[in-house]
Amino acid sequence: MRNKFLYAGMIIASVWFVGCNSDSAVQEEEHEVHTVHEVHFSYDGETGPDYWGSLKEEWSTCNNGLEFTEVVEGELHQSPVDFETAMAAAPAYTLDYDKEVQFKMSNNGHTIIFNVEENSPKVHVIINGKDYELKQFHFHSASEHTQHEVHAAMEGHFVNVAEDGSIAVIGLFIDNVAGSENEALGSAFGFAIPEEGEENPNVITLNPSEMLPGGNVYSYSGSLTTPPCTEKVAWNVYETHIGLHEDKVRAFQEHYDHNFRPLTGLY
Ligand SMILES: [Zn+2]
Repeated sequence: MRNKFLYAGMIIASVWFVGCNSDSAVQEEEHEVHTVHEVHFSYDGETGPDYWGSLKEEWSTCNNGLEFTEVVEGELHQSPVDFETAMAAAPAYTLDYDKEVQFKMSNNGHTIIFNVEENSPKVHVIINGKDYELKQFHFHSASEHTQHEVHAAMEGHFVNVAEDGSIAVIGLFIDNVAGSENEALGSAFGFAIPEEGEENPNVITLNPSEMLPGGNVYSYSGSLTTPPCTEKVAWNVYETHIGLHEDKVRAFQEHYDHNFRPLTGLY
């Protein structure tokens, strides 16, 4: 995955809008439209995952990991990773997610994202005494993490940010189901998915705790799975899957059918 070449021509070619970092809640809050030439990333070809680290200097972590200058095996911590069942354990965090929270759904060109409204009640996760506030949740298809290298249909990421900027993500494996789905997740996707760069004007009220399956989680320190691939992200991914009705999975995939970063081998 390392030492990919630089596609200089492409860097000046694209016009982009909305923060390109779908995993950074901080940047997601800037919903401004950029009309200047800006680098963008994708999941295909010359702007795809193999090249993210070469597209922009600030994104070099995507190829190299944090400690590139003194790389030794095991010092890279790029997500996603494959999980083995044995790694899952009882959550070591305290969840304060059981509240009605207001969101708005938008399509940022990389994913469908539900941002917490400014005046909404806030929910938190506390890890090792540190308080992280939920800023947004968004989705990938197929899943980014795998279990024994098997992908789920989708993966949900609840992005929580502490006051010092550190990030904790709670992840959910989501299966495509024909029968009963997770009700809260189903209601989130009961709203029309907006076109790229647009927001659905409806305020969507959800209790985030109702989307979590409970049980064991895979916990590890990894990275954002989109540029700039920042490391030291506290990951907690539930072992148990939740379901989303196949019609809603299909509706999501009409917009994003492969917005997942493949396993990097950089861990
Ligand atoms: Zn994500």
